[in-house]
Amino acid sequence: MRESIKESKRIVIKVGTSTIMYPNGAINLQQMEKLSFVLSDLKNQGKEIILVSSGAIGVGLARMNLTERPVTIPEQQAIASIGQTELMSLYSKFFYHYGHQVGQVLLTKDVTDYPVSRENTVNTFEQLLLKQVVPIVNENDTVSVEELDHLTRFGDNDTLSAIVLELTDADLLVMLSDIDGFYDKNPMKYADARRFDTISEINEDILALAQDSSTKFGTGGMITKLNAAQIVMEAKKQMVLASGYDLSILFNILAGEHVGTLFTTQTH
Ligand code: ADP
Repeated sequence: MRESIKESKRIVIKVGTSTIMYPNGAINLQQMEKLSFVLSDLKNQGKEIILVSSGAIGVGLARMNLTERPVTIPEQQAIASIGQTELMSLYSKFFYHYGHQVGQVLLTKDVTDYPVSRENTVNTFEQLLLKQVVPIVNENDTVSVEELDHLTRFGDNDTLSAIVLELTDADLLVMLSDIDGFYDKNPMKYADARRFDTISEINEDILALAQDSSTKFGTGGMITKLNAAQIVMEAKKQMVLASGYDLSILFNILAGEHVGTLFTTQTH
């Protein structure tokens, strides 16, 4: 199963805010540059790369010298708007340094509800990849709302990254987290927790092991990662959940090494 990862041609990589920001709220430039370097090298190896990056609000707060996330939705959306621009500016600079061009794709949940918008999104991804560009995806926070009759929010980038895998027909989703895999209980709380090397089915028993999630940045914890894994496995594709602490881990994953947890329905 790990062998087949080596053959992955089109890969979606998702990074969370904790991977590219310091705990003190400042931008981790070292990590952003390292991510751009590793992904550029993978492109040079002939892979097609799509990056789903969180961090717009975090970067916006840093840019505006704010330490607290504002409480109102319009204020949060304004901060996200500032942060998204800064985030793309940094990625653009770093990728350009390593010889690659990026393109921004901002999505809302309803792109998958309407065939025409879905087709436009798919076409945009295909054109970018055809032109050897690295699409960088995030939720469109400015227009994303959650109303009873009009649901446009994904709510978390874990689900968004699984939808991006579907839309682009990618082979593999690598989800980089603050944790180095999926365990039989929350490893942040239990020292004897054991990491799964492979998960071949998401069922009630597996979901129960993720109930104990703490969510620093207000995202979904382990549950949304398992939901994403389910979407990926239903699409007959593979997902690896691994630590984003040392980003060169991406080379190890794509070399078929046993790092993180592999979610797959494949048996060979
Ligand atoms: P990120 O911010 O990297 O996207 P989160 O912090 O939202 O990730 O979710 C990962 C957290 O989920 C871990 O740090 C851990 O505390 C928690 N968690 C709960 N149950 C489990 C489990 N069974 N295996 C691994 N992590 C778990």
